[in-house]
Amino acid sequence: METLLEVKELEVNFPVYGGSVQAVRGATFHVNKGETLALVGESGSGKSVTAQSIIGMVSRKDGTKLNGAIHFKGKNVLEMEKRELYKIRGSEIGFVFQDPMTSLNPTMVIGKQIEEGIAFHQNLSKKEVKERAIELIRLVGIPDAEQRYNQYPHEFSGGMRQRVIIAIALACRPELIIADEPTTALDVTIQAQILDLLREIQTERNTAILLITHDLGVVAETAQRVAVMYAGMIVETGTVDEIFDNPKHPYTWGLLNSVPRLGLNRQERLTPIEGSPPDLFNPISGCPFAERCKYAMEVCAQHLPARTEISENHQVSCWLLDERAKAMIGEGREQVV
Ligand code: SF4
Repeated sequence: METLLEVKELEVNFPVYGGSVQAVRGATFHVNKGETLALVGESGSGKSVTAQSIIGMVSRKDGTKLNGAIHFKGKNVLEMEKRELYKIRGSEIGFVFQDPMTSLNPTMVIGKQIEEGIAFHQNLSKKEVKERAIELIRLVGIPDAEQRYNQYPHEFSGGMRQRVIIAIALACRPELIIADEPTTALDVTIQAQILDLLREIQTERNTAILLITHDLGVVAETAQRVAVMYAGMIVETGTVDEIFDNPKHPYTWGLLNSVPRLGLNRQERLTPIEGSPPDLFNPISGCPFAERCKYAMEVCAQHLPARTEISENHQVSCWLLDERAKAMIGEGREQVV
């Protein structure tokens, strides 16, 4: 499969009073053409900052340190000129934000909002731009497209507003859509419709999707591969089957154990991950999960675990996978999912 986006050792440090916050700490993953990669983790793990870095919304201007590389179609986004960035943002990479109400301009009819990107990136006449906007309204499943073109965001339901956001993201037929928690603000039935819509668009247009979510149910339904993020690092990546059926990192075990599943009887309880994520203001020397991990060894708090390759697609950063640890603890220490 051809790689469309490759994030390599990405580091994002925000300056704050008295130091800096290490929001992303060496994140490495890739998205292939036409596939969906789910970036999963709890709030504050650095998922959204990673996404915003990909489309150049995190700038070095205010003293933010951005290191590593983000290659989109072979070119490093972190080294692009502003003009080059504007060119790919919206045309080659579309973005679907979490909250459809705050992402739309309440004073502008939705047709005009969809037209903005088309007019900016494509050399079309006014008539053609309008036709394209109406076609997009239809494409995302909003009925009466001509009438809806002239309506304001407050005249749309939450689900319909998210469809408008998807239409804006699709305006210039991007090769990659970054969807940051696209269904979090929606109820379950609308959530399913939006996920169906994203899937249809992907199949029809071979669009790649980077789906940012904390919801493993959404991941199972939508993605082909998963990258699990914790405290600004990717701790495990693999195909959906590898992550759900053969997870290797204790944090992934914890995530899977803390979601409701069919067949759970009344007496059984969900197992939350005890403790809180580390304070990213303070440098972390070893494994960031060490304080919450019941399998932690002495080495975990002192040294960052290396990435271990389980298979071509499945990589894990955990000392439990190290040969020396295996020898010490025996092969029997397996997952408890
Ligand atoms: Fe737990 Fe150590 Fe693995 Fe980190 S490296 S997840 S602390 S066992």
